[in-house]
Amino acid sequence: MSKLVAFAAIQGAYNIVSKVEGIYNRAVEQYGPEQKLEFPNTAYYLPIIYSLLGIPVKNLEDAGKVLEICRKLLPDHVQRIHHLPYLGPLLDAGMSTLFAEEIHEAIRYVDDPDFYLPSEDCDLENGRIWLGAADDTIMRKRGVEFVDGSAPGFAAIVGAAPDPETAKEIAEEYQRRNLYVFMCANQNGTTFTEQLIEAGVQIGWNTRLVPFGPDISAAVFALGFANRAAMAFGGVRPGDYERILMYNKDRVFAFVNALGDVGAEWAANAAGCVNWGFPTIADTDIPEILPTGVCTYEHVVANVAHKDMVQKSVEVRGLKTVITKVDIPLSYGAAFEGERIRKDDLFVEFGGGKTQATELVEMADMDAIEDGKITIEGNDITDLGDEGGRLPLGIFVKVAGRKMQPDFEPILERQIHHLINYAQGIMHIGQRDIAWIRLGRPAVDKGFTLKDIGQIIHDMFHKDFGSILDKVEVTLITDEKEVEKFTEKAKAAYKARDSRVENMTDEAEEIFYSCTLCQSFAPTHVCVVSPERTGLCGAYNWMDCKASYEINPTGPNQPIEKGECLDEVFGNWAGVNEFVSKASRGAVESYNFYSLLNEPMTTCGCCECIAAVLPTCNGIMTVHRDYTGETPCGMKFTTLAGVMGGGQSSPGFVGHSKYNVIQRKYVSGDGGLLRMVWMPKSLKEELKEGLERRGEELGVPDLIEKIADETVGTDEATVLEFLQKVGHPALEMDPITG
Ligand code: SF4
Ligand code: ZN
Repeated sequence: MSKLVAFAAIQGAYNIVSKVEGIYNRAVEQYGPEQKLEFPNTAYYLPIIYSLLGIPVKNLEDAGKVLEICRKLLPDHVQRIHHLPYLGPLLDAGMSTLFAEEIHEAIRYVDDPDFYLPSEDCDLENGRIWLGAADDTIMRKRGVEFVDGSAPGFAAIVGAAPDPETAKEIAEEYQRRNLYVFMCANQNGTTFTEQLIEAGVQIGWNTRLVPFGPDISAAVFALGFANRAAMAFGGVRPGDYERILMYNKDRVFAFVNALGDVGAEWAANAAGCVNWGFPTIADTDIPEILPTGVCTYEHVVANVAHKDMVQKSVEVRGLKTVITKVDIPLSYGAAFEGERIRKDDLFVEFGGGKTQATELVEMADMDAIEDGKITIEGNDITDLGDEGGRLPLGIFVKVAGRKMQPDFEPILERQIHHLINYAQGIMHIGQRDIAWIRLGRPAVDKGFTLKDIGQIIHDMFHKDFGSILDKVEVTLITDEKEVEKFTEKAKAAYKARDSRVENMTDEAEEIFYSCTLCQSFAPTHVCVVSPERTGLCGAYNWMDCKASYEINPTGPNQPIEKGECLDEVFGNWAGVNEFVSKASRGAVESYNFYSLLNEPMTTCGCCECIAAVLPTCNGIMTVHRDYTGETPCGMKFTTLAGVMGGGQSSPGFVGHSKYNVIQRKYVSGDGGLLRMVWMPKSLKEELKEGLERRGEELGVPDLIEKIADETVGTDEATVLEFLQKVGHPALEMDPITG
């Protein structure tokens, strides 16, 4: 280990801690010690400090105590004659740097509330590009991708590339490998983020290029994100610093790219990252640090050329990234899913209200179709001339395979959305007969034609569903009359499908399916998915689990014979209990499908909604993830999720999907949907049709109007007053606590 790096890092740590102490003292004088400190809409206080020290910093006074720890952690300055290994003191210096910087950023939220934009996207028009701390909604949504492997890791890019073109090349290479890029710090005022904007690259959470902040202290947002994931998904307790750091080293494949001169403050941050097992790969000539301590790989690798930066980084971190190969003239990968095509870049548009665009997947006989055949009926985009324009579109996919079933058609069809979106410069929105596709001019300039849409579907269906299908044939229709005819046919197919699924009941099926996908981060959590209880994340219904089992028989979805019914009202089956007990390793022995009062199902962190009892109102409420406001149970969604998200059963609360609210068995053991007295307005709107239908079925056709929302109030007393005024049916029901 180089004495020089250690010297710089320790010096940097001293500088940073002293600087933050100054900022802190000024803040206490200005706002008083009671001043609240937080990263907005997060449930983990200041996450690095909370996760590693177990200290919940709520105000300036709490932060003062942490700063004292920072001071104590600062090691003695490196003596020129010292020969001991420097790693221990160096790690401490790095740690105190990050604690201090986290406090600095929290004070910045007080000093300048508009400095960071609390959003997934930048607001370029108003020059607001820095996003700061990811709120809990973003963290859950994106954190899951790190856990399930759809994002293998992140590159923290510090500084700036020599020019915008190089920045673009590095960023896109990471995107092709599905990695996130977290950006912070500047090099003499130039930032990697602004270079990307200049090069015309779309940035934000949606394209996995996240501009955290212009200063080195914004590095805490990347590390804090990683630690929150460990707490939220890994069930690691705050303060258990060893497990937090090991979780990161083993599961979060991250590293730092230092672009430009590495000064003392950067060195201090790099030293901090070594605690996480995140190495630094630099483009300048700084002394290297060889493997030692927790890492089996280099901590710092210097002098890496820009063209080798990405490859070298993933190699050092021991990361296997796969570039998806699809035979089209564009880059392809999940990081391109969130791109938008703006009006000025638009070449051609299908659907979106202006023309008809329809998608249908249909099972065919093995010898009736030809694998790989792609047919265009009507004009191709090359017939549009230079101006581009609009076309109607029908995407008709026929698949055949020995293990294919008609029930899998909708599951394959749903893939079309993200598969097309993965192509760089192509946007896909919607599904079925309300699809909307936009092709950008740059994509068309690179030679993308209609045939390539078929090619994507063919190649990716084989790659992802090869075990159930053998042949894929695609017809792309742009002839208006033909698209109309095709749409009629498709509508009939959707209708037949929907009624088949809607009419399924738990009573009629002997087999339910398990889902243990979330066990990688909530180790005792098991979902059991029945026709009338969709998985709580909303991503898996019974049919999805069935298909997933056929595709991957040893995967996370296993058939469960439900066995003897032990309780019809609450929904309890012997076979299910036996499975849950085994799969949770004894942590949970039995749970009910239809109750939140009585042994409710367990909940993991990714549920779409959480329902809670409101005793005064004799009813229940539910709240979805996107609603960040207060609720009548006294807790926001994030707090609720934090309290019950680790895979326990928590009587009085239960996690469920949005769709589950309008399924017939929803909390039927506690009185069902008629118990619902409060929901956020946006959720009511989203479920409007279903709520109206269910209200009618239950004999209260105007139920939806009797359910209070935040415009009525967010405390039980106000809600109760409203319920009495409108005559809500819950008030007439048996006491909910009895
Ligand atoms: Fe599976 Fe349940 Fe996790 Fe959804 S929440 S992925 S259904 S275990
Ligand atoms: Zn989950």
